[in-house]
Amino acid sequence: MGKGTTELSSDKREVKNTKELRAFNKMSIIDYLRGREMTSKAEVAKALNLSFATVSNLCNELIEERIFKAGQRSTQSGGRPSEQLTLEVRARVSFCIDLTYKEVVRLLLVDLHNNPIREQHISYSESSSMQELVTACSAGFHAMCSEADVRHEQLLGAAVIIPGLFDKQTGGVVNSTLAVLDNYNLGTVLSQMIDSPVYIENDANLAALAVSMQGESQRYDNVLFLYIGEGLGLGILSHGGSIFHGVRGFAGEIAHLPLGHPEYECYCGNTGCVEGILSNTGIERELQSGGNSAEQVGHTLGKVISMLVNLLDPQAVFIGGDREDILRQALPYAQQESARRVLLQRYRDIPITLSSGVHNLFYQGASELLIRKWLMR
Ligand SMILES: [Zn+2]
Repeated sequence: MGKGTTELSSDKREVKNTKELRAFNKMSIIDYLRGREMTSKAEVAKALNLSFATVSNLCNELIEERIFKAGQRSTQSGGRPSEQLTLEVRARVSFCIDLTYKEVVRLLLVDLHNNPIREQHISYSESSSMQELVTACSAGFHAMCSEADVRHEQLLGAAVIIPGLFDKQTGGVVNSTLAVLDNYNLGTVLSQMIDSPVYIENDANLAALAVSMQGESQRYDNVLFLYIGEGLGLGILSHGGSIFHGVRGFAGEIAHLPLGHPEYECYCGNTGCVEGILSNTGIERELQSGGNSAEQVGHTLGKVISMLVNLLDPQAVFIGGDREDILRQALPYAQQESARRVLLQRYRDIPITLSSGVHNLFYQGASELLIRKWLMR
């Protein structure tokens, strides 16, 4: 992670006064260094179009705050060694809680490059209450912080990865594949337990955020991530790389588009919902049916992708899921189907890629979310 960088451009927030401008520049410098192994103050000044004096001042502050480390590097010409800055990747740490597994919660402490520092798993059963689960998460958090020597002031907050939608208006989780989460005010309870801000975010949205960091030369600002797991989820990144939530937080709910098999009944009461094919159980059913399941999955996926590309015009489309084996076979069919249905010739080259290790993308996106909240505060 961390290849390339996007400057925190001023269109994302209004900088009102000198103090704010200073904070904004400081955060831009941190973000610039996140994408590089080391750099000099002069390089930073040039890249961010700031004066050397401004950059030097802010970097000195960051060195004092132990977010940057200064070292010397001798020049090849044998001239005076230049001061090089590196990021202290553990200067700030994110706490990620992945609730997307069945009967296991994955807890992670993650550094500023979105790499894990510590990991712990908590088992639970169907009879576990949400209160028990949150108490166990809090205990796991305190144990990991103590093992990894992470102090409270280093913590950026917690990000909870949910297999469902977060209702921005009520603070509750709705329509989750994990029933215990429904309408429980997880954020408030957890925030009190760990004494830090808590953000709750949908799994596919976080995967979209994680893959947006994988652009060749710079981050993607507009990507789609289709997650085929217990259900079908869509993460939309638009407008300078921010997650598109819609008014209530429910954007991207595509599981019940009527693009599935017309005879398949869905738990929502309708027939023909696309999740009937594009989900773990849907894929399993296709495998049992004896036909070319990869082709069936691929064509359905291609139809969904073509519709989304025509609707949202993204830079790239990523797919992730629990059945990577089938999805890999299905991908060429999906690409063909999508190319056939995408309206404009020049949009047909939009890359459609299968991302492996979708669960790792979840925590990388969760960490990225907390880092961006910190950088944009
Ligand atoms: Zn349905």
